[in-house]
Amino acid sequence: MPAIADRPGGGANARGRGTAGMGTAGMGTVGRGRRDPCDTVAADCAVAEGPAGATGCIGMCQGMRPGSPGRQPPRGAGHGAGPVGGPGRGANRMAHSHGAWFAARGRPRGWFRGRTGDTSQGMTAYHRPTTLPEALRLLAEAPAPPRILAGGTDLYPARAAGEAWMRPDDRPLLDLSALPDLAAIEDRGDHHRIGALVTWAALRDAPLPPWFAALRQAAAQVGGAQVQNRATLLGNLCNASPAADGVPPLLALDAVVEMAGPRGPRRLPLAQFILGNRRTALAADEIATAILVPKAPGAVARFEKLGARAYLVISIVMVAAVIEAEAGRIARARIAIGACSPVAQRLPALEAALAGLPLAAAAGAARPEHLAALSPIDDVRATAAYRRQAALVLLRRALSTPLAAPAEARAA
Ligand SMILES: Cc1cc2nc3c(=O)[nH]c(=O)nc-3n(C[C@H](O)[C@H](O)[C@H](O)COP(=O)(O)OP(=O)(O)OC[C@H]3O[C@@H](n4cnc5c(N)ncnc54)[C@H](O)[C@@H]3O)c2cc1C
Repeated sequence: MPAIADRPGGGANARGRGTAGMGTAGMGTVGRGRRDPCDTVAADCAVAEGPAGATGCIGMCQGMRPGSPGRQPPRGAGHGAGPVGGPGRGANRMAHSHGAWFAARGRPRGWFRGRTGDTSQGMTAYHRPTTLPEALRLLAEAPAPPRILAGGTDLYPARAAGEAWMRPDDRPLLDLSALPDLAAIEDRGDHHRIGALVTWAALRDAPLPPWFAALRQAAAQVGGAQVQNRATLLGNLCNASPAADGVPPLLALDAVVEMAGPRGPRRLPLAQFILGNRRTALAADEIATAILVPKAPGAVARFEKLGARAYLVISIVMVAAVIEAEAGRIARARIAIGACSPVAQRLPALEAALAGLPLAAAAGAARPEHLAALSPIDDVRATAAYRRQAALVLLRRALSTPLAAPAEARAA
């Protein structure tokens, strides 16, 4: 039976700022006047400095361990004062102290030599490019395959867990948070483009059409407000957890992942992008730059998530449904289920069975045999049998609720 692994370290070390969202459509920035939480821990906080001199303090600093190596920067430089927007305004001291310290000491740009950089101070090499070509160049030139850093809410807990198990991950870090072109949600005619730095909070608050309802409902339930403010949708996809809440809604929307690399840009349907548990089709020298969502005029959507509690919980099962109807009958149904197989799955047999049915009959049409392709596991959160039963219940719930609200779709 395929394994559904836990999100590594889920629930640990993700004390992001509670207020620094990206604003509507992912375009906002952190206010200059806002009191930075790092003010309270300034003595234990370094400064992020990008190659262009952008500085900014980092929300996750509050989760840092005291006594990390490295000297402290001058007070006042960068704490909430830099022109840095986006979810990542840096990462934690283990990372951003590199850009600050070595840049300040006049070291050359580029990766520091050695397996993972200059480890003389026990630090991980770190870069925060300000353009995509620069990011790709750094990726290509890195002495060891770097870890790409977006919001850090999967990456840092995983690193912390690795350290706890004596398997430290000291690969270089390539921080995307200063790439402004990746922080927007754009209407591109026949599709929407969601940049790689768009956070769950930006998505949750964006004025998007009704077919995004499932994705926005997922956004409102991911982690808690702090995680939503920092974590990105694309980071969720690249992490490729079987329980990633972003995957079912985007599978049901036929989303496509856009990537950039030395061989040029390319696109892959999400269903082909995620290859398995923690595996994607992204090459080592590529960066995922956006998610493209085709428009679905008239469609309504719904997301249902089952967890042990309302927030800060890994999903036991989640269901996403996108339904298009004409004259009271289903014209097209797209249904996906997550956390019941190594990768979330569409349910083609159910989708076919729903086509042509009256809207009111949709929920009753979902049968146990439609879930035959799922392969749920027993784990600490639920048994496989419970997951299968819960999936059917959530499925019926998803198929009844959105169909009762066609007015929202007509307004689109
Ligand atoms: C307390 C807590 C609660 C959580 N709750 C939930 C939850 O309810 N549901 C859920 O689905 N997840 C949850 N998560 C997991 C996490 O918040 C999400 O998966 C989040 O969307 C990851 O985004 P990020 O920007 O933080 O990714 P990061 O941690 O920065 O990156 C994640 C992975 O993707 C890679 N990556 C990121 N961006 C790119 C890119 N553009 N190109 C290539 N590779 C990239 C990184 O290298 C890394 O391997 C939770 C995490 C925590 C700590």
